Amino acid sequence: MGWFSKLLVPDREKSKVPQGLWEKCPGCQRVIYKKDLEKNLWVCAQCGYHFKISARDRINSLVEPGSFTEMFSDVGSQDPLEFVDTEKYCERYKKSREKSKMNDACITGSAMIGRNKAALGVMDFYFMGGSMGSALGEKITLITEYATANRLPLIIVSTSGGARMQEGIFSLMQMAKTSAALAVHAKAGLMFISVLVDPTTGGVTASYSMLGDIIIAEPNALICFAGPRVIEQTIRQKLPEGFQRSEFLLKHGIIDMVVPRSEMHDKLMFILDFINSNQRTDE
Ligand SMILES: [Zn+2]
Repeated sequence: MGWFSKLLVPDREKSKVPQGLWEKCPGCQRVIYKKDLEKNLWVCAQCGYHFKISARDRINSLVEPGSFTEMFSDVGSQDPLEFVDTEKYCERYKKSREKSKMNDACITGSAMIGRNKAALGVMDFYFMGGSMGSALGEKITLITEYATANRLPLIIVSTSGGARMQEGIFSLMQMAKTSAALAVHAKAGLMFISVLVDPTTGGVTASYSMLGDIIIAEPNALICFAGPRVIEQTIRQKLPEGFQRSEFLLKHGIIDMVVPRSEMHDKLMFILDFINSNQRTDE
C-alpha cells in the first residue's frame, strides 16, 4: 500500500517551500522573499497582509532607534496550581522562555517616539499564544504604575489568545489588576493608547486592551472576546462578512482608527506631539 499512501500526500506537503528564505502569504498565496518582507515590516506588498511579528521587531518598528530601555524583564510566572495537561505547565513555560529568549509574553520599558517619551508594553503572540498569566499581568501593571509615577503617556500593543488557563484564577484576576492600575493612570489625566494587532482575544480584550483613550488597530486584525466560530455555533446564525475584524469594529464604533503597520510610528508620534503641545499650552 506504500504507493497508495504516497498518492494521498496533499500537494501543499509536497511543494513545501524551503524554510528560511521564503514565506507564503496567507492573504494572496504569493511566495515572497523573506528579506523583502522584512524590509516591508512583514507586510505583503501585494495584498497588504500583516504577518505576525515578535515583540522585539514591533518595538523596533515603533520607537526611535536605540531609545528603548527595557524594564521589569525579570518578572516571570510561578506554577502555583502545578498544572498538567499534555505536558507539565512548568516545563512548557521553560521551553517557551528558552525558545523566545523572553521571560513572558510581553516586553515592557520606556522609549522615545519622535520627541516624546512614552512607557511601552508590547505583547508577543509567539510566546504561548500571547496568553495572559500572572507575570504578563504584573508587567502590564508595573509599566502602567511607572507611567503614572513619571507622568508619561502609555502605549500597550496587544496580541493574545486570551487568559493562560494553566494559571486558572491567578490568570483571570490580572484583568481586574491591570484595569485598576489603568484607572489610576487615567485619573492622573494621562493618555493611554491601546494598539491592537491580529489576534487580540479573550481576557486581554475584556480588560486593558479595550480601555485605551485611543484604540488603534492594524488592518484586518481579529479583535474579539469569543471568536466567530464559537458565536456562530452558539447563536446558530451566519455572521456578517468581516465580523470582528478591525474595519468592521471601526464602522461600529468599537475602535477609533485602523492604521497600517508602516504608518503606526508616525500616527503615534502625531498623537503624542498633539497631547504634549496641549499640555504645554495648559501650563
Ligand atoms: Zn499577500
